[in-house]
Amino acid sequence: MNQIYLDNAATTSVFPEVVEEMVKVLSEDFGNPSSTYSIGRHSKALIENARKSIAKCINAQASEIIFTSCGTEGNNWIIRSAVRDLGIKRIISTKIEHHCTLYSILQIQKEYGIEVVFLDIKPNSEVDYQQLEKLLEEDKPTLVSLMHVNNEVGTILDLDRVAEMCEKHQALFHTDTVQSVGKVEFDVEKTKLDFMVASAHKFHGPKGAGFVYIRKKNILKPMIVGGEQEKGMRAGTEAPHQVVGMAKALELSYERLDQDRKKITELRDYCKEQLEKNFEGVKFNGNGTTFYNVLNILLPFSPEKAAMMLFQLDIKGIAVSRGSACQSGSQKPSHVLAEFLSDEDLKKPSLRLSFGHTNTKEEIDYFIETLKSV
Ligand code: PLP
Repeated sequence: MNQIYLDNAATTSVFPEVVEEMVKVLSEDFGNPSSTYSIGRHSKALIENARKSIAKCINAQASEIIFTSCGTEGNNWIIRSAVRDLGIKRIISTKIEHHCTLYSILQIQKEYGIEVVFLDIKPNSEVDYQQLEKLLEEDKPTLVSLMHVNNEVGTILDLDRVAEMCEKHQALFHTDTVQSVGKVEFDVEKTKLDFMVASAHKFHGPKGAGFVYIRKKNILKPMIVGGEQEKGMRAGTEAPHQVVGMAKALELSYERLDQDRKKITELRDYCKEQLEKNFEGVKFNGNGTTFYNVLNILLPFSPEKAAMMLFQLDIKGIAVSRGSACQSGSQKPSHVLAEFLSDEDLKKPSLRLSFGHTNTKEEIDYFIETLKSV
């Protein structure tokens, strides 16, 4: 039986063209990029070309892109270094951030005694922009750390609005764009954010590769020290195959963006329609205008039925999750939904469906039929 994969926010399949490029680099280009002889210089050139290509995708300069191992590393580094090296005394964020951001903030608060303010989340899962503006009027060195697209619900932050507010009040703006890079256009010349974070495995690239964008004026210090790789910003021998694979995946994602976005939006809308038709009382968590690849649904099922739901879907070959992949085995309610659902709704089962370009209507039909039989 084929696997029906409806968990593209957890990770994505790797584009075949990416595998091909990576295998080529692995088998032919083994030189250490720090070595000065020819095969080393060739590996270095592969990395620098990938950097240019990635920078072009978001309209950044190549020198503003630093490679990391994943989104978690990028978020940890920026939050830590902003406090340690840039004199930040206050962080404004939310409790619906991914745990790698949330726990980085709580950890740095413990270590440095900085002030942390979590914005209120409205019942439609959006942040309170007015509260943010008001807080920014206070004259304090501040980092605003707000994710672009929420990984559980798909809530979209208005990046331009927050970037403008931060610029006006001289606050730094860090955004976790792990769920949106490769899935929507970015132009960092236009959107004046200071830091953004990406992870290749969310846009059909390899796991173990990511990048951060750091606006030129912000000079961070490294979290990992040692050699002079990445201009001394992140020590450790680079992984040319990972970086080349990530750049290829991002290029392809943007080449295919219009067609994939259209297809995925149509599938998401079809799935929503079918759920409404077949499950009386189904609700959609979030504001109804969530990101085009995510549907977080609240099912009118009893707790007994809910307990078996994921297990039964899995047996029938359907991969979906309750929330973020790192927590999907947990029985605790989602820390994201807990911020805006009523106590009553929080007890009901929620499922996150996240679609990709390989999904089909037939798969949605099978999912609906299977869910009916649970
Ligand atoms: N931020 C968000 C919004 C995510 O969805 C994830 C992964 O699920 C991460 C950060 C962590 O990224 P990585 O898996 O590359 O560490």
